[in-house]
Amino acid sequence: MSDASRLRIAVQKSGRLSDDSIALLKAIGIKLQIRDRLLIAHSTNQPVDLLRVRDDDIPGLVMDGVVDLGFIGQNELEEKMLERQASNRPYAFKTLRELDYGGCRLSIAVPNEMSYDSVQSLQGKKVATTYPYLLERFFESNNVNASAVMLTGSVEVAPRAGVADAICDLVSTGATLEANGLQEKDEVFVSRAVLIQSAKPLSDEKQELINRLLPRIDGVTQAKE
Ligand code: ATP
Ligand code: ZN
Repeated sequence: MSDASRLRIAVQKSGRLSDDSIALLKAIGIKLQIRDRLLIAHSTNQPVDLLRVRDDDIPGLVMDGVVDLGFIGQNELEEKMLERQASNRPYAFKTLRELDYGGCRLSIAVPNEMSYDSVQSLQGKKVATTYPYLLERFFESNNVNASAVMLTGSVEVAPRAGVADAICDLVSTGATLEANGLQEKDEVFVSRAVLIQSAKPLSDEKQELINRLLPRIDGVTQAKE
């Protein structure tokens, strides 16, 4: 059974945020032995348990108070917030720190042969994305009437597959776009990893532990600058 007195931290099990998040926890003195298959990892020197899950699940776990802390990309966090707002579900959390990894942008990209002057060129078109709420907010703020087509993977092949006219996807170098004959046109959201805390009040012991860990995060971040 899990021990409620231990601080619960959600991290991405395997993906772009996993290594940096685990490295940061280790750098601030939390000893961890990660066994690849396991959902939970217990720290051997601190009252800390890691919950290793898909990144998509992390905002909800924090917003529901199932975990105390989470390492997550702002893109995923903001999308989940908008989704919960739309369905009147709780979405409160606190951002403790912006981190120096996980940098990327959510961008509109279109096939090389498509003419594109501005986002207005998407009027009446279909845009494939994993982030329909962020994309629709962008359309609304630009007064564009276009539709978001939700795809959880392989977004970059949607135009070629005839599923959408353009895409809105995460980009860091742009190599994937280029390989798929797409050109980046507009930035919808700029993102990095953040550490968030549940809005639920924690026990004094847990809150004191968090308060001790934060300056260490700052120290590690500054040392890298
Ligand atoms: P999971 O299996 O956990 O759902 P995933 O495939 O959704 O994984 P990853 O590709 O590992 O997610 O990306 C996780 C996060 O890393 C993104 O949501 C984003 O915040 C960040 N990130 C940084 N650079 C990139 C990039 N070039 N492409 C995608 N995500 C990036
Ligand atoms: Zn994911």
